Amino acid sequence: MRSRMERQAMRILLVEDEIELARALKDQLARHDMVIDHVRTVSDAVAILRDRVHDVLLLDRRLPDGDGLDIIRHQRAQGFSTPVMMLSARGDLADRVEGLEQGADDYLGKPFATSELVARLRALARRPARIEEEIVRAGRLEFDFHHLEARIAGRPLVMPRRERLVLAALMRRFDCMVLRPSLMEQVFGLDDSVQSNALDSHVCRLRRKLTDAEAGLVLEGIRGVGYMLREAI
Ligand code: CA
Repeated sequence: MRSRMERQAMRILLVEDEIELARALKDQLARHDMVIDHVRTVSDAVAILRDRVHDVLLLDRRLPDGDGLDIIRHQRAQGFSTPVMMLSARGDLADRVEGLEQGADDYLGKPFATSELVARLRALARRPARIEEEIVRAGRLEFDFHHLEARIAGRPLVMPRRERLVLAALMRRFDCMVLRPSLMEQVFGLDDSVQSNALDSHVCRLRRKLTDAEAGLVLEGIRGVGYMLREAI
């Protein structure tokens, strides 16, 4: 017997330019109580994401006007946290790693069985959103995503916007390594002219502030890979 949760229709945004495949997917997923909004291009996906909320994004990589990964970059830069499954014939390891590094939550290579796709889509939709709450606490720190403010024991931790963006990115994926490309984008947007070591300077100042304020957090890094925030033991 299916749970109440599963009976509620999941809304999925499918971005796929192969019309036959899209049609087949739409039919198959509809049988599993999934409602599909289908678009064919990156620009149409970006447009629909502005005014509709979806439970999962199901993205093809090779699209007429770009790479499906562009959609992830766009939605993350706008602060959306809808889970993303990449769907692509390019299912080799390097492509998977690239997809996951760019913010996809899961990856399924074509061809695939519908039953597997359905199971994985449900698993993704069940996952708590990465910014499910406005205020998240860790150690002695309280972070308000809505106002982008940090407080310790109720007192605001004053810092420039870039450092607050670093902190937001790390708090959003607490206890997880956040990779450099993702951090760069969340802190500097799509500005390519920024030097990569600017990020390290912000991280360094943020780390010092957290230590001085006795936040009870450790900001760790792996050179050239990324940073991670966790509770001090
Ligand atoms: Ca395609």
